[in-house]
Amino acid sequence: MNESGSQSDLSSSQQSASLSRRLISFVAKSWPVRSFRRFLVQLTDFGLRDTVECLETRITDIETQIDVVNNRLSSVKETVWKLNIVPIGKQAVVSSNMLNYEQQVAENYADLSDKFDSYRRLVDGLIAIDQNMVVPACELAEEMESELNLVTLRHDIDADPVTAVRMARYLASKGVAGTFYLLHTAIYYGEFHNHLFVRNPQLVDWVRAFIVAGCELGLHNDAFGASQIPGINGAMCLKEEINWLRSHGVNLKGTAGHNSLPSYGAENSEVFLGRRLWSRQPVTITGVPLPMEALNEQELGLTYEGTFAVPQEDIDVELAEAFAHNQAGASIRNEQWMKQYLTENPYCQWAVDVQIWIVDCNKWVIGGRIDDRPVFHWDITLGDVLEYISTMPRGTRALFVLHPEYMRQ
Ligand SMILES: [Zn+2]
Repeated sequence: MNESGSQSDLSSSQQSASLSRRLISFVAKSWPVRSFRRFLVQLTDFGLRDTVECLETRITDIETQIDVVNNRLSSVKETVWKLNIVPIGKQAVVSSNMLNYEQQVAENYADLSDKFDSYRRLVDGLIAIDQNMVVPACELAEEMESELNLVTLRHDIDADPVTAVRMARYLASKGVAGTFYLLHTAIYYGEFHNHLFVRNPQLVDWVRAFIVAGCELGLHNDAFGASQIPGINGAMCLKEEINWLRSHGVNLKGTAGHNSLPSYGAENSEVFLGRRLWSRQPVTITGVPLPMEALNEQELGLTYEGTFAVPQEDIDVELAEAFAHNQAGASIRNEQWMKQYLTENPYCQWAVDVQIWIVDCNKWVIGGRIDDRPVFHWDITLGDVLEYISTMPRGTRALFVLHPEYMRQ
């Protein structure tokens, strides 16, 4: 009696489990979780308490799994978001939508951007200084001896290709060649759809416009930014885009690393063989090793790297690590950080004497070393910059780092 009774109980519990499984698969496929909860209440009313308990355990599992997936999705979304059109050191406030892209750039940079006329004043001012020779970055990198001051206008197109084209055309009208780097992880360039990279159809027109303007065109290297997207090898993305630009007629000689070391724990230039700043293996936000030294510049036909960062011979690793991990302080609008970055950089040397950055509306910074003495001028105007350039010692190599979106109005 007892035995047969327990067999009968077992069989009833097996039936109940089987019924539960069928119900779960039916309901999980067809209903949102909230309706499922309502359904469980109804089952309890019908006296199917065991089944309800079993289902509740399963639904809790399903909900946990949904949370895990949602968390992963939001971290991926946030990464892609950060690669878009956010001003350096600012939070994203707009969606990644190309339909009103120009309007978004205008809104995002409204507070930071100077008039386009300031760019004309800069170029005119540089040309007017007799001891200056304005050369593209590929020529500055040749390190030729010169009695003149060599000045390069490097344009990192983080967000605004339209203003960049306008700048290239202005330079052409003055017979001067600047250097422009397209950012392959910016949404104006293209976007990943799952693992398929789709370039913005307008990109080809911009590339042609730069070629016609006679400027130097290169890639703003964000290999380690691209590597943050799960399943993507940023080094291969960079290589692919070098080939793509060349296939459209670009005489591409160089790249310039986007962002600085605190962003990814590595400078983007470290994707190239021999450019590792010190021995270590940084990883992405999901723990995947960054493709350090994965590409060979010589094999790719690249002749220089446009940030002009070179490894230090006797690096103080502790100091370099501390600077690398100071993500909170790393901003071009932080005076102390910029001073250290430009004049006493603990992780690299600069193969130019001074760098001149625009960091806000008519706010400029000059930093570097001349005859091993630090040079640093913070929060100065365009007028101050031109004054400084006209008094630089002969033979100075000066690199302007411009983001077109700061001079677009
Ligand atoms: Zn950049």
